[in-house]
Amino acid sequence: MATFAEALLYNFVGKDGDDEEKDFFVKTKQDRKHYEAFLQDYDGNELAEQQLDRKDFNAAIIKSENGEIDYVPDQGRDFQYNLEQLGLKVDFQLNEVDYINRERIRAKYHYRCQYCGRRGHSVDHKDPVSLSHNNSLDNLILSCSECNRIKSNMPFKLFKKLNDHISDINKKLVKYENALGTLQGEFERHRRELAVKMHLKGVVNDPELNAIRKQNKKLQDAIDSLQSDYDSLRKMRESYFNTGWKIAEENQKQDII
Ligand SMILES: [Zn+2]
Repeated sequence: MATFAEALLYNFVGKDGDDEEKDFFVKTKQDRKHYEAFLQDYDGNELAEQQLDRKDFNAAIIKSENGEIDYVPDQGRDFQYNLEQLGLKVDFQLNEVDYINRERIRAKYHYRCQYCGRRGHSVDHKDPVSLSHNNSLDNLILSCSECNRIKSNMPFKLFKKLNDHISDINKKLVKYENALGTLQGEFERHRRELAVKMHLKGVVNDPELNAIRKQNKKLQDAIDSLQSDYDSLRKMRESYFNTGWKIAEENQKQDII
């Protein structure tokens, strides 16, 4: 960066003792201001720095300065527009944590929710980023969408404490998830087999086909019943967390009136 800053300074102010306007690489004072503003937009913009290499950013500026790109960043336009005109792209919709970090965190935790142990893909802030403004890796954890939703803005310590009390329930959730996954896979396999046999036989009604249908119906009933037990356990767990949070807040209130 130091070298580039030097080069830029040189471009802006010209050579020592040479104050002729024609020797400026960036020709007008106005243009220099635009470049300065554009550089400042990049500096300190986390998303831009994460997604766009400074080398590429600098290269684009140089192309603009020497006319290879016929566009000078405009202070009156927003940063993203200026980037696009220079052929650069930054996705400002992304959260502060870029996707490479997200993938790293998922792999680190083996795609498992660190609260309940089920499959998880949500990269979460232990302490809500809205409160802590902490995007560092040690404030990030992997969770399932359900734990993520339940935790919401609950303080990490409280959520962790409540969660530690129900480790056996969490183990059950993992078993439910695994069992349902296996059964659903089996059901899909049977359904495909039935479709193939129906096609081969060329009839819809047939004793063998009906026997398979009966089996599939049993399997589907087993899945439904398991899913319903799983759902009630999940609901119970969710209200446990919600109540736990309310109780903790109530407990902290000093005055009744
Ligand atoms: Zn979870």
